[in-house]
Amino acid sequence: MSETAIRAQIVVRGVVQGVGFRPFVYRLAQEHRLNGWVLNSTQGVVMEVEGARAAVEGLVGDLSAKAPPRAVIDRVETSFLPPVGYSSFVIETSQEGEESVLISPDICICPDCLRELFDPRDRRYAYPFINCTNCGPRFTIIGDIPYDRPKTTMRVFTMCPPCEREYHDPSNRRFHAEPNACPACGPRVELVGRERQPVGNSDGSQPIEAGRRLLAKGAIVAVKGLGGFHLACDATDPQAVEEMRERKQRIDKPFAVMSLNVETVRRYCEVAEGEAQLLESPARPIVLLRRRAGSPIAAQVAPGNNYLGVMLPYTPLHYLLLAGDGQSEVPTPLALVMTSGNMSEEPLAIDNQEALDRLAPLSDYFLMHDRDIELRCDDSVTRLFRGKEGIIRRSRGYAPYPVRLDMDLAEVLACGAELKNTFCLTKGSDAYMSQHIGDMENYETYTSYRSSIEHFQRLFRVSLRAVAYDLHPNYLATQYAEELAAEGLEAVGVQHHHAHAVSCMAENGVRGQVIGVAFDGTGYGSDGHIWGGEFLLCDEADFSRQAHFEYVPLPGGEAAIRKPYRMAVSHLLHAFGEEALSLPLELWSHIEPAELTLLRRMVTGRVNSPLTSSCGRLFDAISALLGVRRVVNYEGQAAIELEMMAAEGVEEGYPWQLTPGSPMTIDPGLLVREVVSDLLRGVEPGVISARFHNTVAEIIGGVSEAIREKTGVSKVALSGGVFQNVYLLGRTLDHLQRRGLEPLIHHLVPTNDGGIALGQAVVANVRLRKEASRVSSYSRAAL
Ligand SMILES: [Zn+2]
Ligand SMILES: [Zn+2]
Repeated sequence: MSETAIRAQIVVRGVVQGVGFRPFVYRLAQEHRLNGWVLNSTQGVVMEVEGARAAVEGLVGDLSAKAPPRAVIDRVETSFLPPVGYSSFVIETSQEGEESVLISPDICICPDCLRELFDPRDRRYAYPFINCTNCGPRFTIIGDIPYDRPKTTMRVFTMCPPCEREYHDPSNRRFHAEPNACPACGPRVELVGRERQPVGNSDGSQPIEAGRRLLAKGAIVAVKGLGGFHLACDATDPQAVEEMRERKQRIDKPFAVMSLNVETVRRYCEVAEGEAQLLESPARPIVLLRRRAGSPIAAQVAPGNNYLGVMLPYTPLHYLLLAGDGQSEVPTPLALVMTSGNMSEEPLAIDNQEALDRLAPLSDYFLMHDRDIELRCDDSVTRLFRGKEGIIRRSRGYAPYPVRLDMDLAEVLACGAELKNTFCLTKGSDAYMSQHIGDMENYETYTSYRSSIEHFQRLFRVSLRAVAYDLHPNYLATQYAEELAAEGLEAVGVQHHHAHAVSCMAENGVRGQVIGVAFDGTGYGSDGHIWGGEFLLCDEADFSRQAHFEYVPLPGGEAAIRKPYRMAVSHLLHAFGEEALSLPLELWSHIEPAELTLLRRMVTGRVNSPLTSSCGRLFDAISALLGVRRVVNYEGQAAIELEMMAAEGVEEGYPWQLTPGSPMTIDPGLLVREVVSDLLRGVEPGVISARFHNTVAEIIGGVSEAIREKTGVSKVALSGGVFQNVYLLGRTLDHLQRRGLEPLIHHLVPTNDGGIALGQAVVANVRLRKEASRVSSYSRAAL
């Protein structure tokens, strides 16, 4: 060691574990001739390096400049210490502690591993669990931090000597690759029938090949993936797809498909360049793509939808399932349906025995393996909108990577909403959004929700200071918050649409006042009515309701959501009074006279009919009125099908009116009367749909402008499930921009209720801070 040696302690924070960071540091230390050590700690990656000053500086520079592809560095902190005379550079065992580190999401197989997978000379040829420091499972196998093999579900597999050598060889791509494995020592695949009897060769060999043969013959096979089981079948086989629908009791809700590569996808969908990038991104989300007319994909895959949800394979097992091992006689399918392995609305099956028990009625065969899934994680769903990603379901490949907020956050849990639930934990400047939990309508989902919250608290070392919740008294997520409040935690109630708007503000980094336009199906209002067509003036702490659609009754409450024709009746009675019943509408022939009498009584007498300003329900009503969809079998179906049929090239809308008041109101009756008049004149339903959409977009522009005139605020945050409608969203942006307003939309978190937890978390944080400053000024006053 020379006289001029210095020692530096360096802490690298960010996504630096499970992405090959320590071997990278090891190689840098060799390159720069530095001694010392590196380890994973709960802070991130910590190292000490000792040697010439120029060499230390060179290494520090390279840490950010040459970082491994999947690493995300937030900060590099360097402090200098007196040299101690290290004689070598070593990777030390991990340190445990109470600080948190970012955990990598699961990463799809990398190009190097993919090459080995299909190389007959490689010792991992056709091995379905091939991975390295640049790829493989992470979030779904990690039980705790720091990220080391004993803390993952790989702990039960002991590495064989060759794997062990790679793992300890700093020049190897698998140096400290925690899930490292090979056919000799790692997890294995088996193909079994419903009674767990082996299928295929009697010795159980070539289970994937046997699975491919069965799929080609029309079978339904449950396939264990990263975050749970999929149900797979040939997407070009109408009978197989129909059979899958019947067994899953899923009538129309679209299925996602998986194809080998982008070229294959282009045979049945339009794929723009940005969409190809999303498909090929390491997160491998399901991407919504416009389908080509007349493609061989069975119509039953996504009935009534102009889009298909498509993903590329992300595990080696998926690649083998689609492409075979290169010697297979079974051709590569154009696409496989890959839908979540569950009965509709139950959580995804993750455990082998659980899958056999729960999925036996759904699946003929099970292609599964003995690497356990620590945490359930559904596929993510995304789309490209005007050149930018707009995520619809943020889950595998994205979670648990946080949304970065430019503010100091207390440790707060936001419980989320009822449908498409996600929760959010805040700490530092990070908002950790959970993976998609699902619709909290059954006990199994609620159980999964609770255990995921505990898992996140452990992984991110969060000890809660407060809990934020939706005001709806019957949400299970709200009941969970009440339990925590009963244990003494401070609880902050956040109005549903306020949370929507703040979620949009937060991910766009906008502070202060905005006009929040929150359009969705259902959200509990501050007045106890059901809101959903709201114009708010809001900041991160509070809101005032500036305008909304006039209330109409929701006949039978929940029942009206499943039966859009009920909303049509309600809106017709609102628009025309009793005269509605003598209009020559086809709708009447689809409602039993007894039910119609009942509906009239419910609406006019306000019996079991809560009031709603919901824009989602207005879409439902128009959809039913036009005969597009009178009864739905999945959430949002009536509005989606109404959007899909909107005619192109229609620019005009209907007249509308803003009634002054506090808040101002928009009468949907005017709109409904115009729709009926078009309908009776025989105007094409597609044209009526387009005119209706155009009017809603115009209303958003006009009302926002009126609010700007009153308040001087020109930023408009658009949020709520209604804005998943790209026809509406595009027109709305045009209207707002034309008026010089500044629209904000969602990109990082969903615009639907899956994004609401972020808004709740921010509102709670800001309110707590305000409260704290009030308390401290009181106590100062007391002195
Ligand atoms: Zn790899
Ligand atoms: Zn091995």
